[in-house]
Amino acid sequence: NILLLATRKLKSGDLGFRIQGLKDEFGEVGASFNEMAGSLKEQMHKMQRAEQMTTFGQMAAGLVHEIKNPLAGIKAAIELMAEEIALSAENKDILSKVISEIRRIEALMKSLLDFARPPKPQFMQVNLNHILEGTLNFLIHQPSFSQSKKEPIAIIQNLDVHLPEIVADPQQLRQIFINLLLNAHEAMAHEGTVTVKTSLDSSDMIEVSFSDAGKGMNKDIIEKIFQPFFTTKPKGTGLGLAISKQLIEQHGGTISAENNPDGGATFRIKIPIAQPERISG
Ligand code: ADP
Repeated sequence: NILLLATRKLKSGDLGFRIQGLKDEFGEVGASFNEMAGSLKEQMHKMQRAEQMTTFGQMAAGLVHEIKNPLAGIKAAIELMAEEIALSAENKDILSKVISEIRRIEALMKSLLDFARPPKPQFMQVNLNHILEGTLNFLIHQPSFSQSKKEPIAIIQNLDVHLPEIVADPQQLRQIFINLLLNAHEAMAHEGTVTVKTSLDSSDMIEVSFSDAGKGMNKDIIEKIFQPFFTTKPKGTGLGLAISKQLIEQHGGTISAENNPDGGATFRIKIPIAQPERISG
């Protein structure tokens, strides 16, 4: 009777129902029923999520398309006006603020599209340390990265020179690294150190970690940081980590975050060395 009740519950859509209190052979059937119900629930959840993402992707693409062209027109017109010699310094300043806000909207539109429709990775053989060094070098020379603090932040590179080459999309890896480094930078109100470390985690995974000396995250925040649109910053989009998670998962890897015992946060990426099915496919 209990088994019958359970199958009826499942049929009516109650995927959370679990069988309890059965013994021996019936207990075994009950346990395997529970396992099946759990797996069904997970699959349903994944399918719903995929459907939501498709709808969201279509909406985002439509919205971006509608906004992009008029915005480009507005930007071009304002840029022209800003070049007027007769304008007062005060008005020029106002126009340059308008242009920088337009650039912010453009960047947001791009993030929205990236999240809604993550581009397929272009897999190739790459040296992860070289990509990291190139990204750090690029960021260090960005005025917003190096000059916005009273004291510049120090970046310690602790890179394992014996890392094997991996199969990955270099552009997507750069995007993830930039997101994490900008976040580390923003988390530190004053000067501080960011340590970037690479190592061979096991025989087929490489670990890259970014440890900062920032404010860290409390428990409520840490649970939500990978959710799209979750941000604690006044001008944040909440898409950086959600996009990074998607990209790293497209590589068969993982990303996680934790607080350091002595303050600040560490973001850890694990990425497989090989993508066998992708190379042959
Ligand atoms: P955004 O930077 O636009 O807020 P993200 O998805 O990159 O979007 O980050 C989401 C949130 O995660 C941030 O608003 C912040 O609260 C938290 N966070 C991310 N990185 C760090 C970090 N290194 N230290 C502390 N908090 C962080």
